[in-house]
Amino acid sequence: MNYEGNIIRPPSEAHSMIIQVTVGCSHNQCTFCGTYKGWEFRIKDMKTIKADIDEASSWGIPFTKAFLTDGDVLILPTKDLLEIITYIRRRNPRITRIGVYGNTKAILKKSAGELKELRDAGLGIVYQGIESGNVEVLRKIKKGAFPHKQKETAEKIINAGILLSQTVLLGIGGTEKSREHAIDTGKHLGDMSPDFASALTVMLLPNTELYRDYRSGKFKLPDKFGLLEELHLMIQHIQVHRPCFFTSNHASNYLPIRAHFPEEQDAVLRTLAHILKHRDDSVLRPEFMRAL
Ligand code: SF4
Repeated sequence: MNYEGNIIRPPSEAHSMIIQVTVGCSHNQCTFCGTYKGWEFRIKDMKTIKADIDEASSWGIPFTKAFLTDGDVLILPTKDLLEIITYIRRRNPRITRIGVYGNTKAILKKSAGELKELRDAGLGIVYQGIESGNVEVLRKIKKGAFPHKQKETAEKIINAGILLSQTVLLGIGGTEKSREHAIDTGKHLGDMSPDFASALTVMLLPNTELYRDYRSGKFKLPDKFGLLEELHLMIQHIQVHRPCFFTSNHASNYLPIRAHFPEEQDAVLRTLAHILKHRDDSVLRPEFMRAL
């Protein structure tokens, strides 16, 4: 395979055919993200992409899903994306769902008609990093997208009939903005009500601006119970208007949760309240097992 740089994918795409379509991320400015630092963004040429699809299709693995990397595949012209999706499905008739990462700017550039065309071709899920619902936090981390625009993109994806999976970042407001970040992010998630929502926890990576701020004392990360308090407060403020599967089972988190909201929301809140009350870390993931 002609993979270049860091190839990452959501945990739920572990068994998918992974095809690299872009190298890096067209934004590449988020202060906490080190994944594509040092890589200049570019779209790979169609010949290389198809050669990788041919190779992966020849492995004899009965893939049912495919995932297109890197950071911002929806930035591709729609006709090129349609060509790639159609080619994957022609070579692999069992593949019924194709997923991509999509950032807010890229999603907004697609018209409702284009998104429906992509859905009809096989685009089944878009993963979007929201990180926070707090304007000041989003500005500080240079996300390049604010809540009202994120909400607009969520509506576009959902209205097109494509599954939406959003991630938020525990700890990204630091100790200073922990409370506001938790409350605003909970409200924002409820407002958008994606099909899937995941909380990850900030990991301080040495090649990032956030790490430099941490070293200089400008940024202070809440401790593990501070992060759980954030999670508890966030979940308290989530009011979904359609079913949402909430997880915090990413390896960066201290406490794995998998729950259907709203049905299981109260049970999750009770569990979190119990852990927080007793400061019980026996149920938490040990530090050495946390990873990105
Ligand atoms: S978090 Fe996402 S949008 Fe931000 S730099 Fe990393 S890949 Fe790009």
